[in-house]
Amino acid sequence: MKLLKRIYFSMQMLHRYHHTLASIVKNTPPLQQLYQISPVTLKKQGVAVLVLDFDGVLAADGASQPVEELHQWLHDCINIFGADNLFVLSNKPLVSRIQYFNQHYAGVRYITGVKKKPYPDGLHKIMALTGQASTSVMLVDDRLLTGVLAACIANVHVTYITKAYVCWSQRPIQEFFFMSLRFLEHHMLRWYGFWGASHRG
Ligand SMILES: [Mg+2]
Repeated sequence: MKLLKRIYFSMQMLHRYHHTLASIVKNTPPLQQLYQISPVTLKKQGVAVLVLDFDGVLAADGASQPVEELHQWLHDCINIFGADNLFVLSNKPLVSRIQYFNQHYAGVRYITGVKKKPYPDGLHKIMALTGQASTSVMLVDDRLLTGVLAACIANVHVTYITKAYVCWSQRPIQEFFFMSLRFLEHHMLRWYGFWGASHRG
């Protein structure tokens, strides 16, 4: 029942924000990954609070820890933003992940006990915890109809990851499922973009 409600909410919000989402798709380079984004540049652009999705952004779906190549990037973020201003907002708040963060990235908070994205509740909780306005918050996410849509609803900045981490050898069925979802979302929004442009033009 919760899943159906969430799907219905997503469809309503997709209808409301499809122009914004289509413009994000149009303006995001293909194959964009987290390590290519400079924390220093984000800070200079006015981002005070950085919120990271986990699956696809920090590691392949279902992994319990971020990939090795992001460890230094995460420590750079802690130095630049402060651990208090760094959050993980995932629809899968696994205990193993929370423990890993507590052990290796002390002070970074993994948000739990909120309605899953695209509900904006997790982002609202982060704004309440930090006291920061939505315009100072950025979410990094690889899913248009969950994270990116939640960011649109909460009016926070968003970076869309177009090259998600995958691990075909460990979880081929799940990876195929999520790859198909990402493909459908991305191309549906591209179509929305073209449709919007042709009707405006
Ligand atoms: Mg994800």
